[in-house]
Amino acid sequence: MSHSALWYPYAQMKTLEIQRKVVRAEGVMLEFENGEKLIDAISSWWCVIHGYNHPEINEAAISQIHQFAHVMLGGLSHEPAEKLAAKLVEITPEPLKHVFFADSGSVGMEVAMKMAIQYWSNQGKAEKKRFISLYRAYHGDTTGVMSISDPEESMHSLFHGSLLPQLFVPPPEGRKDLSCVEPALEALENTLKDYSAEVAAMVVEPLMQGAGNFNLYPERYLQEASQMCRDYGVLLIFDEVATGFGRTGTMFAADRAQVCPDIMTLSKALTAGYTGMSATLATEQVYNAFLGDSYEKAFMHGPTFMGNPTACAIALKSIEIFERENHLEKIAAIEAQLQEELGDLRAPGIVDVRVLGALGVVETRNRTDWEGIQEFAAERGVWLRPFDRVVYTMPPYIISSEQLSQITSVIREWFQP
Ligand SMILES: *Cc1c(COP(=O)(O)O)cnc(C)c1O
Repeated sequence: MSHSALWYPYAQMKTLEIQRKVVRAEGVMLEFENGEKLIDAISSWWCVIHGYNHPEINEAAISQIHQFAHVMLGGLSHEPAEKLAAKLVEITPEPLKHVFFADSGSVGMEVAMKMAIQYWSNQGKAEKKRFISLYRAYHGDTTGVMSISDPEESMHSLFHGSLLPQLFVPPPEGRKDLSCVEPALEALENTLKDYSAEVAAMVVEPLMQGAGNFNLYPERYLQEASQMCRDYGVLLIFDEVATGFGRTGTMFAADRAQVCPDIMTLSKALTAGYTGMSATLATEQVYNAFLGDSYEKAFMHGPTFMGNPTACAIALKSIEIFERENHLEKIAAIEAQLQEELGDLRAPGIVDVRVLGALGVVETRNRTDWEGIQEFAAERGVWLRPFDRVVYTMPPYIISSEQLSQITSVIREWFQP
């Protein structure tokens, strides 16, 4: 592939093999050039919650395109963006009242960071501009959010010197044993004690650190951390780019944890995999800090494609379907089935099996334990993409129980041929 015009993500182009070429996708199935059909076990990087080629979402997009595909949000407004903002305020925790749109998860998190910094500087506290983040965190690939992503995993060393110096604390690891919570909180409190005067916000992926090896951790941590942030005068930001829209079993991880952050970012499943978009939500308190008689206090951000009407129409339809189809019940059924079919999986090399909502994870000691799994799964009709020492499934919520069994069987067979 060394002469490919197309540069692929996270890939060594010199040795990359030919990629499977998708020609169609329907429901949970990906269809390839050679006629092969595979179940997408990971919802195209976790976003295709209603499956591919959904007739109603197609229709919503096409109908919006026929009216106007895009207009700028600078100096203009339109119903799709106004309606989506109101809908997001309605379905997220009560205190979140205002929505700022952008184009992707990374940019939505950049917006969250800038919002937190300007929140303090608008109040004369310009020195509060650093962030506390967790080891294993992943908040995206742009340079601002790379600085709050895990310093070892996110290529900090490669970009050393060009990233903002942030503060990292260990996350609680694992949900099964609450004893991980206390030491993690202690480390957080020590950091807050020493640095709160220069910290704008703490940033977390609530309950599930996605790209950080799918670390699942207890609600307790978020409840206590939230209180500590309040006590030390530090904002709390939830990155719900991956957890939003049902993935952990409730609409938002914030609901499951019963913690409301000051700022929350949504993306991935927001547009059901149709197009890039993010929403950064803020409480009244955060929003009010930007109000004033002068322009100076206004929030200084505005991406070209902000509030793109087609994306908004898609998101509105996706949320309507989510509510109408009662997806939370479907997710509970997926969780029970994943628990049933993977929960007791034991084999040499496996160090942990964990399930939460519509996420099932099998972790091995070495990444080499998974060498060849992708082809093995494809031969059995399933598209998987191992991630370091983990194989996981995050299926579209429309998956049938037979199709889900097909995914779990592939993982079981890998260990018990
Ligand atoms: C995927 C992801 C991002 C980045 O989103 P992009 O749309 O890829 O920029 C940020 N945070 C979390 C938790 C994610 O899972």
